[in-house]
Amino acid sequence: KLHNTIQELKGNIRVFCRVRPMLPKELEKEENRMARMVFAPSGKAVELVEVNKSADGSKTVTKALPFAFDRVFDPAATQTAVFDEISQLVQSALDGYNVCIFAYGQTGSGKTFTMEGAGPSPTDAALIDVDDAAALNAAAYADDHRGMIPRAVDQIFASAAALKEQGWTYTFKAQYIEIYNETLRDLLADTATPTAKYTILHAQGRTTVPEAKVVDVTSPAQIHAMLVRAARNRAVAATNMNERSSRSHSVFALVIDGVNETTGESGRGTINLVDLAGSERLNQSGAVGDRLKETQAINKSLSALGDVMVALANRDAHVPYRNSKLTYLLQQSLGGNSKTLMFVNVSPLEKSFNETVNSLRFATKVN
Ligand code: ADP
Ligand code: MG
Repeated sequence: KLHNTIQELKGNIRVFCRVRPMLPKELEKEENRMARMVFAPSGKAVELVEVNKSADGSKTVTKALPFAFDRVFDPAATQTAVFDEISQLVQSALDGYNVCIFAYGQTGSGKTFTMEGAGPSPTDAALIDVDDAAALNAAAYADDHRGMIPRAVDQIFASAAALKEQGWTYTFKAQYIEIYNETLRDLLADTATPTAKYTILHAQGRTTVPEAKVVDVTSPAQIHAMLVRAARNRAVAATNMNERSSRSHSVFALVIDGVNETTGESGRGTINLVDLAGSERLNQSGAVGDRLKETQAINKSLSALGDVMVALANRDAHVPYRNSKLTYLLQQSLGGNSKTLMFVNVSPLEKSFNETVNSLRFATKVN
């Protein structure tokens, strides 16, 4: 009961913090140290501790910053464990809710790993020799590392199949849009057209991007292939894929229409999975030219997202959706009949301490 009340007050916005592990290549370098983080046994809080070492070798705690979230995942948390905590939220998209899941954090903090996963791309996987045990093991390992998008898609299709017995028939439509410098691009376009400028239409309570491709989806495999295609489209448009993807938002949307022939019920739900641009540029000064423009665009959209979430949490009469393309595009999926989850991804590196504090503060503000 209490839990329900809290969720109501929060307007169905939840925040999960995830700290990624140190990477093998980071462990190789001696100067890379892990930041001191104390994970509460409740799994709902983390404390960042800054320690100063004096010349005589004595240590003093100079900062101890506690943060509380709906859930905190330490570096050992697997993709399966993380998905377990969001599977009910994913399920509610089949019940007609608008679900939004964001990944927020500095570049390199694990946003894409959380949303999409890591490991060999499906094209690489297709080349794996089935007689090569080591290669098969490597592929299985990659499978463990599948992120929230492929897991959500698999669960939705499995549940839809199970609900057939109760008379439900579902149809699925997918769209995948990139927002870069406040310009929209269709990641599912047949040809990568980085110059195409799509517009967002808002009519009858729905926001749509009429020019962007909407794909009818009948199987999870189709979506997995779509994700590869989107990655390829992003790569074609950029001289350096990682560079560009860290400076743009990608919004994957699945629209779910359900009809029940037995009861005559019908409904529509959506699930939006959003890999946000790196948040570190929020604080970067001294940028010029293209970089300055990008910085300003990222600044604008991430702060607009924060403002919308705060307004929703406060149940403000006016929610400023129109201050960025991102919030405008997601208008119907934020607020109202919607459920929102934000992952705040953070790096475990000591040298990222200040960015980590910034990310956790942003996340605390919207929680
Ligand atoms: P971002 O999208 O925020 O820039 P990435 O998702 O690309 O960050 O993560 C940076 C690196 O860390 C990648 O090599 C990724 O595979 C790795 N990584 C991130 N999170 C994890 C994790 N939980 N376990 C193992 N490796 C991870
Ligand atoms: Mg990324």
